[in-house]
Amino acid sequence: METVSTATTVWTRNSAHAEKRDLWTAMKRGFRCRCPRCGEGKLFRAFLKVDNSCSVCGLDYTPHRADDLPAYLVIVIVGHIVVPVVLWVETNYSPAVWLQLAIYLPLTLFASLFLLQPVKGAVVGVQWALRMHGFDENAPDGNPPV
Ligand SMILES: [Zn+2]
Repeated sequence: METVSTATTVWTRNSAHAEKRDLWTAMKRGFRCRCPRCGEGKLFRAFLKVDNSCSVCGLDYTPHRADDLPAYLVIVIVGHIVVPVVLWVETNYSPAVWLQLAIYLPLTLFASLFLLQPVKGAVVGVQWALRMHGFDENAPDGNPPV
């Protein structure tokens, strides 16, 4: 006679009480490009490539995919800094267009490049803190929280 296991693991909100995750701490650690859980290990292996796991605590980063959100957030942040400055300078001083372009274009470019990695780290921190991650459809027994 064959024995068939019918036991299944059901993951609910109450299943994940093991680890308390503070959103702001995880965001700050991610913004500093560090592991959202321990704050020590590096989050990135290249400029915008999230590493596979934390070298200190072993946290698996692979389920955390920021996709395009960091780029949208950087556009919003830099736009809210540069556009008011442009309008204020134009209203009060009206410098030559070539001078404005020579200042604003590099300012926008470098501010965006400067913010992109920290914002992506913060997004990964938020994902980790809120347990927002991709689920493994091939997992045999459900999708345990990472
Ligand atoms: Zn870590």
